[in-house]
Amino acid sequence: MPIEPFKNDAPTDWEKTENREALNKNLEYVRSEFGKEYPLIIGGKEVLKEHKLASYNPAAHHETVGYMSQADKENLEEAITAAKNAYEHWGSLTFLERARYLFKASKIMQRRKSELIAWQIYEAGKNWAEADGEINEAIDFIEMYARQAIELMEGKDLVTLPGVENHLEYKPLGVGAIISPWNFPIAIVTGMTVSAIVTGNTVLLKPASLTPIIAAKFMEIMHEAGIPDGVINFVPGSSREIGDDLVTHRDINFISFTGSKEAGLHIDELAHKRIPNQRWIKRVIAEMGGKNGVIVDESADLDAAAEGIVTSAFGYQGQKCSAGSRAVVHENVYDEVVEKIVERMNHLHVGTGTENNPVGPVIDDKAFNKINEYIEIGNKEGELVFGGNSDNTEGYYITPAIFKDVQPDARIMKEEIFGPVLAICKVANFEEGIDVYNDTEFGLTGALYTNNREQITYARRKMECGNLFINGKCTGALVGVQPFGGYYMSGTGEKTGTIEYLTHFVQAKTVAENY
Ligand code: GLU
Repeated sequence: MPIEPFKNDAPTDWEKTENREALNKNLEYVRSEFGKEYPLIIGGKEVLKEHKLASYNPAAHHETVGYMSQADKENLEEAITAAKNAYEHWGSLTFLERARYLFKASKIMQRRKSELIAWQIYEAGKNWAEADGEINEAIDFIEMYARQAIELMEGKDLVTLPGVENHLEYKPLGVGAIISPWNFPIAIVTGMTVSAIVTGNTVLLKPASLTPIIAAKFMEIMHEAGIPDGVINFVPGSSREIGDDLVTHRDINFISFTGSKEAGLHIDELAHKRIPNQRWIKRVIAEMGGKNGVIVDESADLDAAAEGIVTSAFGYQGQKCSAGSRAVVHENVYDEVVEKIVERMNHLHVGTGTENNPVGPVIDDKAFNKINEYIEIGNKEGELVFGGNSDNTEGYYITPAIFKDVQPDARIMKEEIFGPVLAICKVANFEEGIDVYNDTEFGLTGALYTNNREQITYARRKMECGNLFINGKCTGALVGVQPFGGYYMSGTGEKTGTIEYLTHFVQAKTVAENY
């Protein structure tokens, strides 16, 4: 069957009654599955553990979505052995053979989309659009990496010499660890796992403790697609119990991580410590945090800018590493922009994702408390012009908080909050805006609203970030359209969804054959 050119998966049309009805049915179905117990999966075998961790619905925290078995050190060893065994066969397949499994997986995910949206709503606290967008992204990653792997199969023809045939080919690295975050519990789990396996590696997948059930659904899909036993070993568990051992294990050749700066730096440090009988310098691929900002010049379309700021700051309650948690606004349009932002907030109802409210709950009590602490800090650092109330009686709800007149060096301008808190800062001119934007330890996403061509040119050169959006919001990068990944403390800088990304999971072999 010919492989069609890549196309981004289309968002669900919620105007269609059949789509709404399907989701309602799936919400009911998923609810009927609440409270089930889920096993580890090691070498294709289900291992139900005594020690389980409950995963709660953040919109109603008395509800348990499921109980996830927790891997211990012994399970880790078993999983590494299973991955090594599976590697013998999997690593020797061609890229095309492996890509074929992925095309199947994509179709299965597509078929189960409405159900997966329901799981996302209940376990991650997303609304319909956020959940849908994320599953589209997961499907896009599968489709994209499958095609790019096939391209890698070609290797590279090199300069020829008389009587010598030279060729460069790509080989997998071996066994790796995938450590994934809760905020994109299907898209990032999928992207990180399939990129590593389609290139011939076998892995241990340790999903985030807050969203393990969605990861279990991903495992079901991979199983149904026929991915052989032991290629993906599912080892949910606490970082304290198994995290360090996983990273430092002699047989783990790479670690693909997405999560906080602190965890990322810790992994990086551990991974590069010398160990006895070392045979590998581990590769660390890390996507970490962001303190992203939206700059608004006086020449900008102010409605578009206000809209972009609100969406960037509060989509999925600001719990994206791409979230735009700072707005840096030219003084000549400052009051007007603030007013337009606040106006828009009155339509941003806070409530459950099941009812598709624009702002849902934050992920758990820890996040709830941390965000509230930052709101208190914000009250000292700026003037609250909207929201900031919180209520955790039923779910972890926080009304988005907006602070104006915040100084560039304030903590809420510098530190990643990972919640619905926006700091607005006034600047005297465009260049100062760029300086303020750049003045953080991160460099992930940024947006600029302007109608001035010279400023666009200047920003392209000077704004220090991996993903720059001009006259558009700074979240929601699409696979293949806006390869994603940042600078500095935002990570090791690989761009997801690209063939270069895949090359981090292979090593090249040059073969020169004299004849
Ligand atoms: N790729 C997502 C976006 O563009 C963000 C990923 C993340 O938060 O880790 O919004």
